Amino acid sequence: MRISVKAPAKINLTLDVLAKRPDGYHEVEMVMTTVDLADRIDLTLLEEDGITLDCSASFVPLDERNHAYKAAQLLRDRYGVKKGVRIYIDKQIPVAAGLGGGSSDAAAVLRGLNSLWGLNLSLAELARIGAEIGSDVPFCVYGGTALARGRGEIVTPLGPPAPCWVVLAKPPLGVSTADVYGSLRVDKIARHPRTDAMLKAIERQDFRLMCDSLGNVLEEVTLPRHAQVRQIKELMRDSGADGVLMSGSGPTVFALVQKQAKVYRIYNALRGFVKEVFAVRMLGGSEAEILA
Ligand code: ATP
Repeated sequence: MRISVKAPAKINLTLDVLAKRPDGYHEVEMVMTTVDLADRIDLTLLEEDGITLDCSASFVPLDERNHAYKAAQLLRDRYGVKKGVRIYIDKQIPVAAGLGGGSSDAAAVLRGLNSLWGLNLSLAELARIGAEIGSDVPFCVYGGTALARGRGEIVTPLGPPAPCWVVLAKPPLGVSTADVYGSLRVDKIARHPRTDAMLKAIERQDFRLMCDSLGNVLEEVTLPRHAQVRQIKELMRDSGADGVLMSGSGPTVFALVQKQAKVYRIYNALRGFVKEVFAVRMLGGSEAEILA
């Protein structure tokens, strides 16, 4: 038996860091939403125990270091599963980009194996297991749009934001999330995002307010270090984007756009500058769409 699961990328509409905790993690507050740029994961049931992993991208680890592999291992060990799985990841989400590719793969494997191995676990239980793999995995288990707090593991699902297009551009740089958080001076953050305003914008499906409330404190670390990220932001704004922000720790920058005609203009302007550009829809809130 074989099933195919979709693992969509996420963007941060807001990312705030409230404090550095004694356990080393950062206390965050983030509004995240999924976009229609997704890895596809094939899971083939094996009658005997064993986990194998293959991936279309050559620079992704294929062993326990892979979040998808870890997800399968955790589920198998925790629930004493005697069957195995062959995992194949068709990678479409740029790696180390701030788009949560690895986290989404892990979440998709948790959801997929829950059904393939007949475990009958709730999304909340899968999210709890996901938190052991990474801070963004619980959000990815739910998908759609949500507020994530704590170190990312306290997830409150939200309704869908105003529907729009998202143009994503990734400059050819890898950014280490740990390094960016490590360099952030929490007591020196110049501008915190207005998370409350973003929650209101989503509740009212107010596109303008959503664009005005975008904010990510990690820009304060990544922007001064990388001219290309600043240039992409400027280019997006100059070509008519309604809202522009860096996602996660970067280096991917996204533009929110309401009118389709503008999407092509922004896409074409960016393609002259960087190779990895995507124009996709926001998935927003439909679970059926996300898990299809
Ligand atoms: P986040 O925003 O959650 O920090 P990201 O989009 O910045 O994630 P990923 O694409 O998840 O970054 O990759 C981060 C690192 O994780 C990579 O260096 C990669 O080696 C490793 N990794 C482990 N599993 C995966 C996976 N399934 N897909 C991509 N990268 C993975």
